[in-house]
Amino acid sequence: MSTPIYLDYAATTPVDPVVTEVMLGHLGLDGCFANPASRSHFFGWQAEAAVEKARKQVAGLVNADVREIVWTSGATEANNLAIKGYMDQFQGQGAHVLTSATEHKAVLDCVSYLEERGFKVTRLTPDGGGRVTPELVAAAINDETRLISVMHVNNETGVVNDIEGIAALARERGIAMHIDAAQSAGKIAIDVGQLQADFISFSAHKIYGPKGVGALYVRRRPDLVLTPQIHGGGHERGMRSGTLATHQLVAMGACFELAGQRMAQDAEKITSLRQCFLEELGECTGLLLNGDQAHVWPGILNMAIEGIDGQLMLSALPNLAISSGSACTSATMAPSHVLSAMGLSESLALSSLRISFGRFTTADEAHLAGKTMREAIERIRA
Ligand SMILES: *Cc1c(COP(=O)(O)O)cnc(C)c1O
Repeated sequence: MSTPIYLDYAATTPVDPVVTEVMLGHLGLDGCFANPASRSHFFGWQAEAAVEKARKQVAGLVNADVREIVWTSGATEANNLAIKGYMDQFQGQGAHVLTSATEHKAVLDCVSYLEERGFKVTRLTPDGGGRVTPELVAAAINDETRLISVMHVNNETGVVNDIEGIAALARERGIAMHIDAAQSAGKIAIDVGQLQADFISFSAHKIYGPKGVGALYVRRRPDLVLTPQIHGGGHERGMRSGTLATHQLVAMGACFELAGQRMAQDAEKITSLRQCFLEELGECTGLLLNGDQAHVWPGILNMAIEGIDGQLMLSALPNLAISSGSACTSATMAPSHVLSAMGLSESLALSSLRISFGRFTTADEAHLAGKTMREAIERIRA
């Protein structure tokens, strides 16, 4: 069997060769490998400079101040730090967290943990298109609401939330706002000056960087209190301890800068890949695109194929590397929590697949994938 076509960019992306090159220069004795916290020698200074350059690259993509970027091991940790770290100060006060039922597990599991510890939690049901709107958020705010956490681009459906509207609302009501931007950073322009959110989570591996590295944007606001979730050494101004992973951080800096330079170009290409794929599927009946197609990141396509179980469909497509539901739920056969929250029936949710395109997908691959899928659907239906 030939190597399948990789169409699971929403799960993770391959590292861009430009980024790999940068990373390799920060590993061995001949490179910039040292501990950035080593203040007593040249190697440490060199590593510190490299890490601070990377911080500038990450901050630069979203127009933040370098002092607003806290390195983490990924968006999961950034979400944990923002949600648990911010709410910690309100322990025992009946404080309320407002989020949506369509969030990534890295947010949902944090709020469940808080709930077990006595916090009040609302998980908003999105509209039928999977969007969390400022109106829905406004209706759920109460006097005890201390934090709103809503993702930018949904990792299963690609649906883009109106985070500008929600952040403005949070600001107006004096409530802190957290955004999980793991799927949007580097793909959709984010300007923290305009957005005025308090916390934004980033990950490198969704945007052609390595896995295991991310960052949390923490707005510079004197009254913003954040309890560290990892203690030991007081790195990152006490917010996140642990020796900085020089090679990982320079790679994240490089992939964020590259994403900024290529944003328009990547988006244009990905939009056309989606069209190629859908063109090939064209005549197929019983296909439903999940999520509000007027507000969708084109790199993610979530589709229900009526009457055909997703697992059966996947087994009929051995040459396509795609996902049933989200990567995180594909180990179990439960319907996706995102599709269920959007009101999809269990059978439609279980008939859904996620196809995601990226920088290295070719038009030929998108055409072939669409054609292969159409033929498989026709074969199964016959
Ligand atoms: C991938 C992803 C995460 C987790 O990021 P890691 O860096 O893998 O921890 C969180 N939220 C969303 C929306 C994601 O897509």
